[in-house]
Amino acid sequence: MDIFEPCYSFKEADLVRAAGVYPYFHAISSSTGPEVIVEGRTVVMLGSNNYLGLTHHPEVVSAAHEALDRYGTGCTGSRFLNGNLDLHDILEGELADFTGKEAALVFSSGVLGNIGTVGLLGSVDGAVIFSASENHASLIDGIRFARPAAVHIFDGPADLERQLAGRPNWPDALLVTDAVFSMTGRVTDLRRIVELKRRYGFRLYVDDAHGLGVLGPGGTGTAASQGVNGDVDLLFGTFSKAFASLGCFLAGERPVIEYLRHKVRTFIFSAALPPASVAAALAALRVLRKDASLLDRLWENVAYFREGVQQLGYCTMGSTTPIVPLLVGSESLAFRMCQEALELGVFTTPAIHPAVPLGQALIRTSVMPTHTRRHLQQSLDVFGALASRYPIPKVAGDRLPVADRMDFRYLFPAG
Ligand code: PMP
Repeated sequence: MDIFEPCYSFKEADLVRAAGVYPYFHAISSSTGPEVIVEGRTVVMLGSNNYLGLTHHPEVVSAAHEALDRYGTGCTGSRFLNGNLDLHDILEGELADFTGKEAALVFSSGVLGNIGTVGLLGSVDGAVIFSASENHASLIDGIRFARPAAVHIFDGPADLERQLAGRPNWPDALLVTDAVFSMTGRVTDLRRIVELKRRYGFRLYVDDAHGLGVLGPGGTGTAASQGVNGDVDLLFGTFSKAFASLGCFLAGERPVIEYLRHKVRTFIFSAALPPASVAAALAALRVLRKDASLLDRLWENVAYFREGVQQLGYCTMGSTTPIVPLLVGSESLAFRMCQEALELGVFTTPAIHPAVPLGQALIRTSVMPTHTRRHLQQSLDVFGALASRYPIPKVAGDRLPVADRMDFRYLFPAG
């Protein structure tokens, strides 16, 4: 078979385009943060990861400008060799302080950070990895790189406990888990995981991409919000969400970070995070640390919007974070509703299998402190109109009956 055959026979995207509900790659031509211009129209941005709305904060923007002027547009090499800036080191110091860890290491992207680090740590002879079943793709891919680790997938703490009970202790094991699941906003019970850690002695790697900057005292993250930050051996955070930039970091004990700096292949063999991105992340961190009102405004908006959609009959799947999922069930209905929401002035994204379990397709919305009441009310009006037009599941139950993938009723509605 021609190795390109799967490319030539790939038709799914065209099918969805023909139905007029293709939800990907919308070109944004301008943005203020809470509003964007898409295909010439200004719409409310209710589908970003800009949890603190800092991408347009004046201090963040001017820090990026200054870094551009001082260092230029790129580092043109690995930090390991010729791309390390004093700014990278400053950012690492402030992140270590913010997260209460001894040291931190900044990578050029979250995907690179997770793949490289999990891949490296899991490649020790005899390594065992416990991985949460809903983990982000980059953790799953990191585990694929971790050879020859034995891998155990667990579905919640009870299942984890059952699997751990097979041995009295697991010093050779690394448990990797998202702290906040990115599509549903569901928060992991890290307290229970830490109880098990204390009993069974594994190492704990927490990906807090969606919790850092948002949850916990001053946005210090999900583990801090549950009082177990000190038990997290490696804490992963990304700058591509609340920190309004690109890149990621890992924070932990100094010898561990020192080892990673010299051994992680996706760190050593990739060019450094560019100056403007480093400066933006650093400025965002500083704004977060000095302006407590940011989080107050965020949570007020989250409560207003979440209660609003619940009153409209949507099931928000128990989310307690700025990610407010609207359960739809059917994949093609989620596509259709996102398209109609966009036409009515609200940008959101659908989440379908495998990002969510089969039959639990949803519309992923997320709220920012920079949304005004007008933005949120306009969004509620749009989702109110859609709720009266389409059958919306009222309760999640833990698992909905499995619907067919892409049931074509809503892709190509009759008539
Ligand atoms: N982990 C999680 C849980 C994520 O949601 C993401 C991004 N969607 C990443 C890691 C990767 O982060 P980045 O965007 O920095 O590559």
